[in-house]
Amino acid sequence: MQPIGIFGGTFDPIHYGHLRTAFELWQALRLSEVRFLPAGNPPHRQLTHASAELRVAMVKAAIAGQPGFVLDDREVRRRGVSYSFDTLTELRAEFPQRSLCLLLGMDAFLGLPDWHRWRELLDLAHIVVAHRPGWKAPTMGPLGELMVDHGTGSIRDLHEKLAGRIYIRAVTQLEISSTDLRQVITSGQDPRYLVPEDVRRIILETGCYARERRDGT
Ligand code: ATP
Repeated sequence: MQPIGIFGGTFDPIHYGHLRTAFELWQALRLSEVRFLPAGNPPHRQLTHASAELRVAMVKAAIAGQPGFVLDDREVRRRGVSYSFDTLTELRAEFPQRSLCLLLGMDAFLGLPDWHRWRELLDLAHIVVAHRPGWKAPTMGPLGELMVDHGTGSIRDLHEKLAGRIYIRAVTQLEISSTDLRQVITSGQDPRYLVPEDVRRIILETGCYARERRDGT
């Protein structure tokens, strides 16, 4: 059975940096699917900008028609704080015999030691790290040590074991971030070609980033 990819984020908004990364990992790792999990009320940040419902709608629009790309809105439905540990525990119970791969950009991986019960995440899933412009893999500290103990260069490991390995993968470097995108939109510029057209339409029609707005729902 092929591994399941789990790609969480605030997706505020989702952009081509997310989509291309997910697509390349889906292909390279021969994942059965990539589950996009928009965060409800993320513990690592303040409030999101667009509402959870709109962020879900944008993810849905962005992945429509792509085989293997699936929306999983459990964190949004759960409301309140959602920890990756809890989500992975749920997914592990739902798929006891499947390899699970948590997909992270390098910036997210470097922040891992701040996550709730972070060391236990590797009991539940593999961690696959995609390079992201401007971020380097850790060689020292707790993550450097984690890499020594759990690092692998073999995709086969991700298929043969259910969890416990860390695999770093180079992907096409697209220097797009949701923060920069929101800046582009608030300043009245057009986000065309940074996000899928259907996502752009939602952004323009709802005006969700048109002005400074905080919405934790
Ligand atoms: P923000 O600018 O608000 O921090 P973001 O663009 O980093 O947002 P998130 O929703 O926080 O988007 O990211 C979800 C996941 O996607 C994280 O693991 C992040 O590292 C990864 N990611 C985001 N943008 C890129 C990109 N351009 N290339 C590769 N990975 C990315």
